[in-house]
Amino acid sequence: MKKTEDEHRREICEVGRWVHQREYIAATDGNISVRLDNQRVLATPTLMSKGMMQPDDLAIVDYQGKKILGRRNASSELAMHLLIYRRRPDVQAVVHAHPPVATGYAAANLPLNLALISEVVLALGCIPVAEYGTPGTPELTDALAPLVGQYDAILMANHGVVTYGADLLSAYMRMETVEHFARISLVSHLLGRQALLSREEVGKLAEARARYFGATGAPVAPLSEVCPVTADGRRVPARPAGEPGTPAGDRFWVSREELEALIDEAVKSAKVR
Ligand SMILES: [Zn+2]
Repeated sequence: MKKTEDEHRREICEVGRWVHQREYIAATDGNISVRLDNQRVLATPTLMSKGMMQPDDLAIVDYQGKKILGRRNASSELAMHLLIYRRRPDVQAVVHAHPPVATGYAAANLPLNLALISEVVLALGCIPVAEYGTPGTPELTDALAPLVGQYDAILMANHGVVTYGADLLSAYMRMETVEHFARISLVSHLLGRQALLSREEVGKLAEARARYFGATGAPVAPLSEVCPVTADGRRVPARPAGEPGTPAGDRFWVSREELEALIDEAVKSAKVR
């Protein structure tokens, strides 16, 4: 059954509390919106903690971003939401936040595109990084535009994360999945080994994903093309050999400082003996 505007208002406030409690945002960061109909979008206000909103703090805007109703102004990052609604008729809700680990990947300009966890591949495919764009300007929407059609979660370089879906709960859950997967990716990177799913396994997940999500009208990116697995299905290290800190077979890379420290230590222990 279609939800009333009041129900959408209460749900946005609830999801605002979740993103705040989970520390996906700080201060007045982040924004959330829901498509009310083909004329109006309900959006969180600017300059207010998204953990402390009341239903009447929200603003209603049209698809040009012009305020129709509300005592507060809608977020300055609203253009990003409107772009997603225009490009994805299947999308009914958008969540934008700065969860620290996924945003760390965005700040490092690293996509979350390794086939490490089957359920993440199934749920989101790969999570690309959009180029940097100044918040609140067309630069930001221009950077997102090429990716919106094929992905349901995007890292925004030096900024944060945006997720969206067929309802607010699924848009929010995608934000949880991105941050959780970023944490797993970071841990496996710190452990020095990332055993990727084979091309064949990724292919099976891609098929299942197309069956589940293709049926909802959502476009699905071709996973086997964007998840780095080797052609013969071997498990490969996370990054191309030669990058700092990445193990590859018996070889490993250290920075100059680390190497100097190791030599220093070796010299000292040789002198003691
Ligand atoms: Zn932001």
